[in-house]
Amino acid sequence: MLICILAIDNGSNMIYNSSMSYLAYKTQLKLNNQQTTLMRQCAGYGRWVWNWALDFKQKAYKEDIKLTKSQLRKYYTNHVKPLYPWQSILSSRIYQYVFIDLDEAYKRFFKGIAKHPRFKKKGKSSHSFTIDAGGKPINLGGKLHKLPFFGWIKTYEKLPICSTKKITFSEQGGDWFVSFFMEVDFLPTPKIREKVGVDLGISKLATLSSGMVFENPKAYTKALKRLARLQRDLSRKVFQSKNWYKAKLKVAKAHRKVADLRSNSIHHLTSYLAKNHSQIIMEDLNVSGLIKNRHLSKALSDAAFGMIRTQVEYKSSRYGSSLVLAFRFFPSSQLCSNCGHRQKMPLSVRVYDCPSCNVKLDRDLNASLNLEQYESTAVGLTALRFVDGVLPTVPCEANSKHQSRLSRFG
Ligand SMILES: [Zn+2]
Repeated sequence: MLICILAIDNGSNMIYNSSMSYLAYKTQLKLNNQQTTLMRQCAGYGRWVWNWALDFKQKAYKEDIKLTKSQLRKYYTNHVKPLYPWQSILSSRIYQYVFIDLDEAYKRFFKGIAKHPRFKKKGKSSHSFTIDAGGKPINLGGKLHKLPFFGWIKTYEKLPICSTKKITFSEQGGDWFVSFFMEVDFLPTPKIREKVGVDLGISKLATLSSGMVFENPKAYTKALKRLARLQRDLSRKVFQSKNWYKAKLKVAKAHRKVADLRSNSIHHLTSYLAKNHSQIIMEDLNVSGLIKNRHLSKALSDAAFGMIRTQVEYKSSRYGSSLVLAFRFFPSSQLCSNCGHRQKMPLSVRVYDCPSCNVKLDRDLNASLNLEQYESTAVGLTALRFVDGVLPTVPCEANSKHQSRLSRFG
């Protein structure tokens, strides 16, 4: 199992210095039966505390008592934990992190970016828990690692020598994984091109104004088909029978394969963009708005535009490039990248055929070229520019050469 560098989804909490960044690692563990049982017990402990805390918090809230994270933890440690001796066998770090996680979940809920925290159900919710070494660094490296509470544990693949403060264990489709953050000092990379326009697509993952095309991997389409078949198989089994569980595990594994393939191809694209270009110009797509369109929804969520944007954001700050998001209504596919002529371009038309300068270009390439010239074209429009993770609004400079083009859509 490959180490995969995950998208850092809680980007808002991350501090992006010029080149200091966090890498998230996730890799599969090689456990014996005893260790697997212990992992399950720990995950069960975490789930138990989560449900207790959520229930207690809700009951208190009904009586108009708002409990802070530390009040809740204190009450639990002094009055609840002693009642359940089995909990003292397991690592106490597990429940400490449950209170932190629950607090974070509530914060996200109050900010309106997540649903209300829910109770966790055995077999339904994902099994995961976090531990640390009580403030001491956890050293990792090679294939055998000494972890707090668990002792020596193997991974299938060699990890780079590093240290981290906390580690999270999780179960996916019957396998256990460890994930952690690592602070890495990134150096800006030499760039092969100043500006690049990126047109994100449905049939192709991305078309670059340099002429490069990133296709959706074939293995991905294949894996999707297999997943659909396995899901059909599962639906024909007797609910909760032995064969049903077997089929369910297969579905979970196929799901993971699909997600891994998708994530790999997206990482490949976004790393290439951030490492080799000084400025990356992409459309600011209203992804959630597009997904409401039922017809396109599957293909769009597959291409995972949101994931691409997040990754380009954090990777460009790592490698010393910047991201410009083109105004949402910038007609990148309707303009001629050569002369600025504008015409309607229905989705079925794959070639841009310009009547005013007779240029014939692939539709996606034309759009990416327009994006590359975005800042000089879009005078007066406001570009959102991410430089080192900060988001100032930069009014674009006027460019007399393109004034005439502007009047057509300004
Ligand atoms: Zn033209």
